[in-house]
Amino acid sequence: MNGTTTLILGGGSGGIVTAHTLRTLLPQEHKIVLVDKRNAFYIGATKTWVMMGMRTPQEVTRSLDALKRRGIEVMHTSVKSIDPAKREVVTGNGVLRGDYLVIALGADLNMGAVQGLEPAAHTFYTMDGAMRLRDTLKRFSGGHIVLLIPRVPIKCPPAPYEAVMLLHYAFKMSGLLGKTRLSVYTVEPAPMPTAGPEMGKFISGLLDERGIALHTSKRTQSVDVARRLIRFEDGSEVRYDLLIAVPPHEAPRAAKESGLTNQSGWIPADPKTLQTAADRVYAIGDVSVIPLPGRYKPDAPLVLPKAGVFAEAHGKVVAGQIAAHVLGKAPSEVFDGKGFCYIETGDSHAVRGDGDFYATPHPRITSRAPDLMQFQEKEAWVESFMKTYVT
Ligand SMILES: Cc1cc2nc3c(=O)[nH]c(=O)nc-3n(C[C@H](O)[C@H](O)[C@H](O)COP(=O)(O)OP(=O)(O)OC[C@H]3O[C@@H](n4cnc5c(N)ncnc54)[C@H](O)[C@@H]3O)c2cc1C
Repeated sequence: MNGTTTLILGGGSGGIVTAHTLRTLLPQEHKIVLVDKRNAFYIGATKTWVMMGMRTPQEVTRSLDALKRRGIEVMHTSVKSIDPAKREVVTGNGVLRGDYLVIALGADLNMGAVQGLEPAAHTFYTMDGAMRLRDTLKRFSGGHIVLLIPRVPIKCPPAPYEAVMLLHYAFKMSGLLGKTRLSVYTVEPAPMPTAGPEMGKFISGLLDERGIALHTSKRTQSVDVARRLIRFEDGSEVRYDLLIAVPPHEAPRAAKESGLTNQSGWIPADPKTLQTAADRVYAIGDVSVIPLPGRYKPDAPLVLPKAGVFAEAHGKVVAGQIAAHVLGKAPSEVFDGKGFCYIETGDSHAVRGDGDFYATPHPRITSRAPDLMQFQEKEAWVESFMKTYVT
């Protein structure tokens, strides 16, 4: 095949891994173009570090331009629309056409989806939000902190539980714990439900040990910013002094309007190859929805959680699929549903959960007790990712 062009939409975890891996697999005559409206890249897992003042944003941020040195074209512009049949993309910088298209646009965060949430809540789910919250926490002198998960799906389902445990530890160290109450209100039936009832119990136990109240199956109706009050659909209410929310997630508009999304609002992708319904068009990472073969309850189907480790694994698989197609070889790699995540528990401790999400009769997760070594593994994982892909 003559020189081909692969368009990669989105330069987050999934997009940069696809671009980097594909560049190692294909000769230079094959163009790889990565499009992102931002130039900054940071791993999601570092946002809690910024929120807690453990790292500055500069320490965890790299420029996507680092990819140019590897022979990848990087365009800083917005994706406005996608025509999957033609593999044609309208951007702020004109129209692009590809022989292969990888949609890696992630999830948009929309506080506006819940009435009153936007003016009321802080968040650490964006880098700007993590910085603002860090400054607010410096001035916090005690009261009721509510960590709210108003809607699912969310990326990195353990992150809110990690954040509340990090806050607990910080208040313990600063002496503010006696004046502070920490509560989690979540729409989930249990923490991280896709990881199963055992993991739910494990997380609930960690919260319980710290005196952090957990309220499950609480779907937020609205927030009254003037009265500092959250109303839930079951008629109950709670008052807060500081509200920290996980913003409702949705697929970016260009993905939604591409015609590729299903009733979930996300783009269904083949569980092994990440191919969408359109020929030579792939969807990876947070923007995709991947049904799982197993379930815990017969009437409750599951989908793959949204996480950076999966976006990374998807990127490698899709690069392998595209390279094999271009070079006329059989693809050797498929996505196996396996991944891991670290949950920090404070005091430089973390627990690593290893998951086999394609296992039946339901996903299989294993974990150990939190310790320093697992925290150091998390630090090494972040460092190695940045060094491999964006240095
Ligand atoms: C607080 C927090 C902690 C986390 N911790 C972990 C963890 O410990 N482990 C883990 O595995 N995951 C973690 N995650 C989740 C992880 O960050 C995401 O799942 C991962 O980034 C998804 O990768 P992606 O490539 O699909 O999307 P993203 O990394 O979000 O990338 C999407 C890219 O698309 C670009 N984009 C979007 N729309 C447009 C457009 N219209 N035009 C141009 N560009 C566009 C964006 O600018 C972005 O760069 C965490 C997330 C958060 C918020």
